[in-house]
Amino acid sequence: LEVIASVEPRIAEATRQELADQRGSLKLIASENYASPAVLMTMGTWFSDKYAEGTVGHRFYAGCQNVDTVESLAAEHARELFGAPYAYVQPHSGIDANLVAFWSILANRVESPYLQKLQAKNVNELTEADWESLRHELGNQRLLGMSLDAGGHLTHGFRPNISGKMFHQQQYGTDPATGLLDYDAVAAKAREFKPLILVAGYSAYPRRVDFAKMREIADEVGAVLMVDMAHFAGLVAGKVFTGDENPVPHAHVVTTTTHKSLRGPRGGMVLAQEEFAADVDRGCPMVLGGPLSHVMAAKAVALAEARTTEFQAYAQKVADNAKSLAEGFLSRGAHLVTGGTDNHLVLLDVSSFGLTGRQAESALLDAGVVTNRNSVPADPNGAWYTSGVRLGTPALTTRGFGHDEFDTVAELIVDVLSNTEAGTTKAGEPSKASYVLGDGVADRVTKRSAEMLD
Ligand code: PLP
Repeated sequence: LEVIASVEPRIAEATRQELADQRGSLKLIASENYASPAVLMTMGTWFSDKYAEGTVGHRFYAGCQNVDTVESLAAEHARELFGAPYAYVQPHSGIDANLVAFWSILANRVESPYLQKLQAKNVNELTEADWESLRHELGNQRLLGMSLDAGGHLTHGFRPNISGKMFHQQQYGTDPATGLLDYDAVAAKAREFKPLILVAGYSAYPRRVDFAKMREIADEVGAVLMVDMAHFAGLVAGKVFTGDENPVPHAHVVTTTTHKSLRGPRGGMVLAQEEFAADVDRGCPMVLGGPLSHVMAAKAVALAEARTTEFQAYAQKVADNAKSLAEGFLSRGAHLVTGGTDNHLVLLDVSSFGLTGRQAESALLDAGVVTNRNSVPADPNGAWYTSGVRLGTPALTTRGFGHDEFDTVAELIVDVLSNTEAGTTKAGEPSKASYVLGDGVADRVTKRSAEMLD
């Protein structure tokens, strides 16, 4: 930090403060974690200075021999850890990984003479009319993904996202009575809509998914099964999700981030069956520019960590702790979407406290509990204010929290929410954002948290 401070002290100070904030609060954001010092240090090296567009052994820049070592190792670790025939470790983020996957599926599956010319690199042979036909063919493809309010991600066909614009999209939800995925309903929708791509995976669904069933549905309608395991990759790597709950043997293409439960650097990855390997390999230059070599190096380090028995024990604890957290809420009368969890997250419906997700998130933050508001199925408050709060166990499990601590976390959250009232606008109207936190609650909760975080 001294080196940074000698150039821009305010960045050094913000960095110091970030460390203090992350260490001093209850970090319950389900997509966050604490990467190891080895992973963090690997990101701060000279690989950051190197351009390496292309793929291993086939770069558009000279002097990439060390980047080749790094990228090959990261891909090898990924293939071995997940048992995947092919791994592509260049995507800079989860969204990039999904874009690479979408384009690889289009390139592989859309039967277009224009696309074939493009893939054969005879780009100059395409006339303006060809391009128009190509745009039409690519733009007419269909994607079926899980809706945002049921727990899906923006990139699974949500209208405001590019995935909802580049495809004709439809969404499947969850059973209104149970909040659980209804595979018969997904199959019925798939039969009717006949998507090219069936996307499975989630950001806020607190249950496991049967990927063998999803593959059956995809096969029946001739779709490609793409699974986005960004949230639960750590549970797959740690062998908590095995058999039909492990997407890798069942999906044609699997995407992930590397920084959530997997506990690596910020970034993305694509795993694929052989059939899609060559098309995924064209991620750069199709969708991506120069890879972040320093991040690929950190991915290799994180993947090496993830193949240890210590990581497997960690992953099991993440799932066990989520159950403890859920039980802690249920025993105190709180309402959880689907009534519990069997992965790394719980989705707390805060409407029974008379609050919106936004009010709950803000009140919790005042008490040093960092969460994010999240829609619940058929949310009456929409995606901005919401009626839920999403809580995940990966980060605090890394800090060593176990059953008792997570039970206390549930107690503290219920304490905050029971002592928070919905506020009003300046004009005295009911507000979905303002709130009034009871006297002494923040101090009480912060003190108990500090004892646990000590
Ligand atoms: N896919 C899923 C399921 C996610 O939850 C997220 C991030 O929240 C992403 C993709 C996007 O990842 P990134 O933020 O790295 O682009």
